[in-house]
Amino acid sequence: MRRVLLLGGTTEASLLAQALAVARVDAVFSYAGRTETPMKQPLPTRVGGFGGVAGLIDYLRRAGITHVIDATHPFAAQMSGNAVRACTDLALPLLALERPAWQAQPGDRWHHVSDLARAVAALPIEPARVFLAIGRQHLQPFLDVGQHWYLLRLVDPGFDVPSERGAVVLDRGPYTLAQDLALLERHGITHVVAKNSGGQGAQAKLDAARLRGCPVILIDRPVIASRPVAASVAQALQWLGVSDVHAHSPTTERGV
Ligand code: NAP
Repeated sequence: MRRVLLLGGTTEASLLAQALAVARVDAVFSYAGRTETPMKQPLPTRVGGFGGVAGLIDYLRRAGITHVIDATHPFAAQMSGNAVRACTDLALPLLALERPAWQAQPGDRWHHVSDLARAVAALPIEPARVFLAIGRQHLQPFLDVGQHWYLLRLVDPGFDVPSERGAVVLDRGPYTLAQDLALLERHGITHVVAKNSGGQGAQAKLDAARLRGCPVILIDRPVIASRPVAASVAQALQWLGVSDVHAHSPTTERGV
């Protein structure tokens, strides 16, 4: 009997969860538990870390998992590395569902950096107004650089910044170009810091930066141990040997 563990936290994971539910595949969805109100999934869902590689191995055994699909964020390197190690140990098939990285277009002023520390170092010496689109966990090293003003876009409330140092906008993607252009204009943003996450839902800030001629400090993806990769939900279903009933579901046709 096939039983899938789907490691989630991305739009693609939610789309695959929907497809697996429609196809009635026995599957468990897993969230890290980073946001207070995670999107409800149409699959049985567990929340929280497994306890490293050993904890994951133990879970996979106890839950009778036969296939693992890692649809975590491209920057979730710890979880992805753990999945490779646990699946290798148990000889379980593992697939990553990963969106392609963004590629620069004419007009983009991208400054590539390999990690957060280098992104902090890449900010200008003179005071800048920075849109920090990198999630809540990694803000402090930027805030420690005194001369800049930061616009923070976060999913959950509870993180405050004095008005002379920045502003917090609470929102959850997908974002539109009109929305992000207005945001950059309203706050007089001069620089954008982003992770090269790829995908549609978060791309608008890069398009808005291009239109405004703003430099973007773009953090490249971490290197993750080699594993088979699917670029679409359809490919992931094919890997599982499931026909793509999702492609014909009314929800997908609406593009939701
Ligand atoms: P990470 O550094 O790779 O993971 C740290 C630990 O969190 C993992 O070792 C694991 O704990 C637990 N974990 C992560 N994803 C999990 C999942 N889907 N189910 C159960 N446990 C999970 O990852 P992160 O950067 O903190 O990201 C956490 C989650 O947020 C991921 O699911 C990711 O898809 C999502 N996310 C991340 C980003 C980002 O920029 N990093 C952006 C958007 C969404 P144990 O070792 O105890 O098992």
